Amino acid sequence: MNSIRHDFRSDTVTKPSAGMRAAMTAAEVGDDVFGDDPTVNLLEQKMAGLVGKEAAVFVPSGTQSNLLALMSHCERGDEFIAGQNAHLYKYEGGGAAVLGSIQPQPIAHRPDGTMDPKDIEAAIKAPGDSHFAITRVIALENTFGGRVLPLDYMHEVGAIARKHGLGLHLDGARAFNAVVRLGVGISEFAQPFDTVSICLSKGLGAPVGSVLVGHRHLIDKARRYRKMLGGGMRQAGILAAAGIYAIENNVGRLADDHRRAKLLADGLMQHKVLKVTAPDTNILWVEAEPELGERLGDYLRDNGVGITGRYGQQRWVTHLDVSDEDIERALDLVDRFLA
Ligand SMILES: *Cc1c(COP(=O)(O)O)cnc(C)c1O
Repeated sequence: MNSIRHDFRSDTVTKPSAGMRAAMTAAEVGDDVFGDDPTVNLLEQKMAGLVGKEAAVFVPSGTQSNLLALMSHCERGDEFIAGQNAHLYKYEGGGAAVLGSIQPQPIAHRPDGTMDPKDIEAAIKAPGDSHFAITRVIALENTFGGRVLPLDYMHEVGAIARKHGLGLHLDGARAFNAVVRLGVGISEFAQPFDTVSICLSKGLGAPVGSVLVGHRHLIDKARRYRKMLGGGMRQAGILAAAGIYAIENNVGRLADDHRRAKLLADGLMQHKVLKVTAPDTNILWVEAEPELGERLGDYLRDNGVGITGRYGQQRWVTHLDVSDEDIERALDLVDRFLA
């Protein structure tokens, strides 16, 4: 147990609500490795339909979902292009290299979080030259650290991918946050991509799981690799039921998380010693002078408020278990500490 009562560390800390637990209890199940779990099948159909793709596969985590996508686009010795700070490059243990024998080609980000399309195009290797790994896929991430990257940018990168015959993958762990913010449908948002990975276990509030959606031939390969990697689950309908509940009940309410992140930002901005970046969605970044930032983080933790990051960069995340009162309490503590 921890002593955090107001938990801004991540939207992964959400616990299944009573309604979600009831849906899990009531789920019809079967052996999903045999294709027999009706609730998993329903979640996959629903997600594919919503996102506007042919097929979907339910997987234990976002990390596995991204890995399956890369392995489905690439063969051994191929290459993927991704941002230098992309989750699937930097924060997934090098899985694509270790388990897929796929080489990353990281690209620097511009201050707005995008990669310069010119840099992407320049990094695509000439396929006829045997010096090079074969570039197969470009991966984008949206939201990226909570920031919404524009639709135009995704289409621009999509055009580069098509021009060079490459696949395009979206790490859409928080894609629903982006679409709620943009006010577009998820299928419009996902349109340029061959594969899209979406987390159910973040702001959507499910305890476990991600869904990878995309073209049927890629999802068929991903399903095979899921088994190979140990991600084939049996009566997983109990978990899929939470996912269905999440997409039916917890998407629209993401706007509340965004509103609360803004409330938090507005409060923290009152303090000149805190450099607050206005949040697009549910993730707020705050910079302070390192020693002050560390003391503030300790003070908040001692008073039951959890945030992540130290030495200057703090991350505050809002989610369905953060209320207006949690925001007030946190801001009150910051005011007292800095008074
Ligand atoms: C959380 C996250 C993942 C990985 O999901 P896990 O379920 O934690 O493995 C991938 N990409 C992004 C952008 C994420 O935020």
